[in-house]
Amino acid sequence: MNLRSIGFRLTVWYFVSLCIIFLLFGIGSKLAMQRSAFHVVDGELQAELDAVTHFLKTEARGLTAADLEDELSELSQGGVSVAVSDQTGRWVYRSSLFVSNRLEIPKNPDLQRHTVKGARDRIRIASTRVVSDGTFYTVTAAYSMHEFNRSIEHFESVLLISMPVALFLASLGGYLFSRRALNPVNRIILGAQSISLRNLSARLAVPRTGDELQRLSETINQMLERIERSVQQIHQFTADASHELRAPLTLMRTAAEFSLRRERSREELADALSKILRESERMSRLIDSLLLLARTDAGVDDVHWEHLNLAGPVQEAAEQARVLAQAREIDYEILLPAEPVPVSGDPDALRRVVFILIDNAIKYTPSGGAVSVKLSQRNGHAAVAVEDTGIGIAEKDIARVFDRFWRADKVRSRSEGGVGLGLSIAETITRLHRGAIELSSKPGRGSIFTVVLPGDERN
Ligand code: ADP
Repeated sequence: MNLRSIGFRLTVWYFVSLCIIFLLFGIGSKLAMQRSAFHVVDGELQAELDAVTHFLKTEARGLTAADLEDELSELSQGGVSVAVSDQTGRWVYRSSLFVSNRLEIPKNPDLQRHTVKGARDRIRIASTRVVSDGTFYTVTAAYSMHEFNRSIEHFESVLLISMPVALFLASLGGYLFSRRALNPVNRIILGAQSISLRNLSARLAVPRTGDELQRLSETINQMLERIERSVQQIHQFTADASHELRAPLTLMRTAAEFSLRRERSREELADALSKILRESERMSRLIDSLLLLARTDAGVDDVHWEHLNLAGPVQEAAEQARVLAQAREIDYEILLPAEPVPVSGDPDALRRVVFILIDNAIKYTPSGGAVSVKLSQRNGHAAVAVEDTGIGIAEKDIARVFDRFWRADKVRSRSEGGVGLGLSIAETITRLHRGAIELSSKPGRGSIFTVVLPGDERN
């Protein structure tokens, strides 16, 4: 038996509570029995005192001492004993109970009933003063509590035997019941122990009890669901990242091997070297992106906060991309408001977000199309809308464009130098700035990506 288990601890609590309840019950019952015994006895004593008082006042006149004694002994029959003494302190009559227990004449009659200790048992006493024919009598009635004490003792011994048995049975029942009630917990523990990275798709059996244990297993299952999804994403991300890193490496190795295979002209060597350079640049861009995502995943906040006019980074990014638009013969437009657009954030990071969106808009818009970059303010927010008349995004893909390494068309994206991390980086940076990217797109018609950032009142 595990002494720290909930079942055992519940049983101990149950046992201790029962002990206290039984003890209070025992003591309470004994006191109640005593009280009702005294109540009954006091009634008897009072009746006896009344009878003797009546007798002394009405019938005792002129009786000899012997007759008086005889009459009083008649009165003294039944459970109640009686004794009468006169003002000199001499016994007029006293029954055997007074003799055998050497009971004294009470010093203050008429006082409350009380109990004294007799030779063997406790004795309940009541007394009163009576004046009859010019003589003062003290009448005392006494009742041996022997019978009552025996009943109470009997009751006590019944309690002493039955209570431990009842306690034992109740505690045993409590223990078995708590074990039964907690059985599903053991099943949950065993189920949880059997789940590891190897079988993350396994789930706990849910007990249909409608109680906390059902909720606990359902909650654990939901947690497993989330962990499984995250692990799958990590696996996918690792596989995609390795694949993306391997491609430029292979190209670089092939170019180097090809150049070394035989004597090459200076031009051929320069060509191979520039291929290697291009691929190594691509690799380091990829590694930078991976590092940035890894750092934000790990909760490292690299934002260098400052108060700025968002028009600055937007214009820089837009100007930087202008040559790309020109190279593709795309109609390119930058619209900046006359008044400043205050935000707080990292200008470099924000420039990067806008550049990613413009770069995509140009990449996925055929020659002759149009791309516009528009900065505006609305409801205390800053908004940068990058609109293109390009190929657009299918409705089913809209939710996925921000996923890492996701690309609608891998070949096209790759030929444009993309690896599918641009939008996830833009989204991560925007989230760090407490903003969001909104997207609306129609396949064949074009897309609008809008970065919405909270405005900065202090600027
Ligand atoms: P990359 O451009 O490097 O492939 P991104 O994360 O920037 O990666 O974009 C992911 C995918 O979203 C792209 O491959 C492309 O399929 C789609 N996409 C992004 N921007 C646009 C756009 N303006 N128009 C059409 N498709 C786009």
